[in-house]
Amino acid sequence: MAILRVLQEPEKILRQATKEVPIEEIKSDRIQWLIHDMSDTLHSIDIGIGIAAPQIGESLRIFIISEEAEVARRSKGKVDREQYRKHKAGKKWKHFVFINPKLIRVSKEKNLVSEGCLSVDKIFGEISRSKRAVIEAYNEYGRKFRRSASGLFAQAMQHETDHLSGVLFIDTAINLKKLEDSEKEKK
Ligand SMILES: [Zn+2]
Repeated sequence: MAILRVLQEPEKILRQATKEVPIEEIKSDRIQWLIHDMSDTLHSIDIGIGIAAPQIGESLRIFIISEEAEVARRSKGKVDREQYRKHKAGKKWKHFVFINPKLIRVSKEKNLVSEGCLSVDKIFGEISRSKRAVIEAYNEYGRKFRRSASGLFAQAMQHETDHLSGVLFIDTAINLKKLEDSEKEKK
């Protein structure tokens, strides 16, 4: 298990469509190690709330969202960084694994929300995301589940699913800005 370097745009692998994980391989050492590496890497980044496999060099349909996406409060688009740190430092930091995810429903109602990405350093912008989304995926134990979410968690599910198709938020975001000291969460 290791903390890995997060690949940066314009790495080619970030632009490739990823492959499904064969269900019978979810419990294999290779996939379990990959999930641990993704989790260790995400855990090591204060304000990162999600990571997809291609961001650490594996072109597979897997992403992780950390619990900050559930609890983060936002006021006027800004996140509470202290709250993020507290969660990341906690012994029982929780994260959710999505393998072969499919967004099966997204709300027509959308919000213009601020967004960043661990693979697009220091750039933030505003992007139109569905307010609510339902996803179907397998967890790290190979069990199929469905999760519906709103707010930041729904936004993260859409951002990470995009990664699996080689899409980055900068492709459609507007008002892109470079921040020297990022004050916003990244995915
Ligand atoms: Zn990202």
